Amino acid sequence: MTKSPWFIGIDLGTGSCKSIVVDQDARVLGFGVGEYSGTEAQDRWQEQDPRDLLRAMIASVRSAVTEAGVHSQDCASLSIGGALHSVLAMDRHGDPLTGVITWADGRAVEQSRGVRRDLSLASRLYQETGCPVHGTYPFYKIMWLRDERPEVFRKAWRYVSAKEYVFSCLTNKYLVDYSLAAGSGLLNTHSLQWNPLCLELAGIREEQLSSLSSPLTLHKGLNPELARQMGLPKDVLIVLGSSDAVNSSLGAGAVSPWQATCMVGTSGALRVISPQPILDKKARSWCYAIDQSHWLVGGAINNGGVALSWLRDCLNQAFSHASPEKTLSFEDILTLAGQAEIGAGGLICLPFFAGERSPFWNLNARAAFFGVTLEHGASHLARALVEGIAFRFRSLKEALIDVGVQLRQIIASGGFTKSELWLQVMADALNWELSVPVWGETSALGAALWALLGAGRMDTLEKAGEFVKLGRSCRPNRESVEIYDRVYPVYMNLYKHLGEAFDEVAELQRGLEKQRP
Ligand code: ADP
Repeated sequence: MTKSPWFIGIDLGTGSCKSIVVDQDARVLGFGVGEYSGTEAQDRWQEQDPRDLLRAMIASVRSAVTEAGVHSQDCASLSIGGALHSVLAMDRHGDPLTGVITWADGRAVEQSRGVRRDLSLASRLYQETGCPVHGTYPFYKIMWLRDERPEVFRKAWRYVSAKEYVFSCLTNKYLVDYSLAAGSGLLNTHSLQWNPLCLELAGIREEQLSSLSSPLTLHKGLNPELARQMGLPKDVLIVLGSSDAVNSSLGAGAVSPWQATCMVGTSGALRVISPQPILDKKARSWCYAIDQSHWLVGGAINNGGVALSWLRDCLNQAFSHASPEKTLSFEDILTLAGQAEIGAGGLICLPFFAGERSPFWNLNARAAFFGVTLEHGASHLARALVEGIAFRFRSLKEALIDVGVQLRQIIASGGFTKSELWLQVMADALNWELSVPVWGETSALGAALWALLGAGRMDTLEKAGEFVKLGRSCRPNRESVEIYDRVYPVYMNLYKHLGEAFDEVAELQRGLEKQRP
């Protein structure tokens, strides 16, 4: 058993909660995962039980501490990173009035569409908050509650994200760090204050939101019962920390404005940490404050690994009667993709299975496979899907370069780094070498680095980034790059031409939904 101080980083993600225990040099001593019992999903709803997130967090911390084999009393500090864009309403007794409405929830389409119709309002909101107009942001979800659940809206004493809920259970305090606040769409990205125009439009008061706080805000002491369940001392130092997006960059060592992280997990994102806000005239990228001197700038796509899950699940459903004992895994889908030629034999996939966010924010975008012939099989579908996701990143890269980001390095993170094929497709589509951190759970490591920062182990975000070690890398293949240089313009043209069809299909679906008994 080690006797030196140790630190804990918690990544309260959308899919699960992951925790790591590190030593004072950010070396990983233990790792634990707490699975959620599930997301309640119907139509456009995506809600999670906040108490279930707390339970999973306790389980993940406990298993990381057990694996590390450390003494409880030597725990120096902990920090929690939270998923962006979630919100739940709470009553004045601190009880949830709703589930945690996640980033993937698409109910607020009408509210965001209403704002988007007023071009000057949409532009003003983007310039003030750094958030393009889109229903993923809690700002629009609160408007949805106001319009569709007036009884909840009337009773709501507070609106908090999943991390703020968990933090309040641990400490009895309602604090929010700037990046999670920015991800709500309600923060002014320049003044780092709640944006008065947003509060007015949503019809809420500032007292209904948590106190805005620096990520290095310290709190001493945990709810004793929860501390006991996690295997932590009750007087441990808690460092407020940041969002999972910021932590994913920090834990990948990408802390300079020339270093981007290319993250593909369930969703995906390309982002940089910038010393000043960067806004795009065309509102393709977002800009979220981290603290007084750092902003996270980039674009996020809805369809990362979730698109691959769709194909895997479809194939498994189709074969479930024939061979119930054999189910396909992500690895199987990627092996399948590897059997098709580069460019998928002319098959193109626009992977908007879960709608679109960056860079074009089309609220009606749908997935499409185009150019299917009798010669194409399942391997072409798999390859086209992986290539289609990579082309979204190419559009994000173009947008970031366009707004003035001087890219010199791209670091890959998230579940896709487990696949050499997927990494290679991404490197080829971006025509850029990808470096891969030695420790793949970058969001949990980023949270642990905030714990180290708050405990005084280092004094700047930049120095914290130096603790991250990079391992292997994946270089673009010249022949593949040439093929993708020809496929990508066709893909973009297809996207542009489908604009009207996306709107027509969305209109059709709304009509059909209304007719449903
Ligand atoms: P989350 O966003 O939930 O934290 P992760 O970063 O763990 O997600 O990534 C999950 C995604 O990683 C999956 O949706 C899948 O696409 C991909 N993935 C998982 N396992 C593998 C694997 N063995 N090979 C390639 N990709 C994988």
